Amino acid sequence: MSDCLFCKIGNKDIPASLVYEDEEMFVIDDINPQAPMHALVIPKRHIATLNELTKEHDALVGAMMRRAAAVAAERGYAARGFRTVFNTNADSGQAVYHIHLHVLGGRKLTWPPG
Ligand code: 5GP
Ligand code: ZN
Repeated sequence: MSDCLFCKIGNKDIPASLVYEDEEMFVIDDINPQAPMHALVIPKRHIATLNELTKEHDALVGAMMRRAAAVAAERGYAARGFRTVFNTNADSGQAVYHIHLHVLGGRKLTWPPG
């Protein structure tokens, strides 16, 4: 989608430091980190919110979850723990309407979220 920040990063129209990239997704560190590790796992396909997911996205989302765990493990947070979050629409605080999986770790995270 032409006017989408994460499409632009995925297409290399906006330069970004990629932590990981393959044919279907990429990982970047969040520009405004909320924990010592705050990475974003982002599909290259434009999907606005989880509400738009269909069965054809099942493998992609599964691969994104496994990539989140791999990033956490690479950074040493597999055993102590980390949090994975998709925000959807206004009440969640979603700001960028191209799905992205937050991967947070390195500090004790509160539950329930605020
Ligand atoms: P949301 O609130 O939509 O779930 O999360 C959007 C996230 O994208 C926020 O945590 C925000 O800090 C991050 N973000 C917004 N613009 C950029 C950017 O240009 N680069 C990076 N690396 N992260 C961004
Ligand atoms: Zn997009």
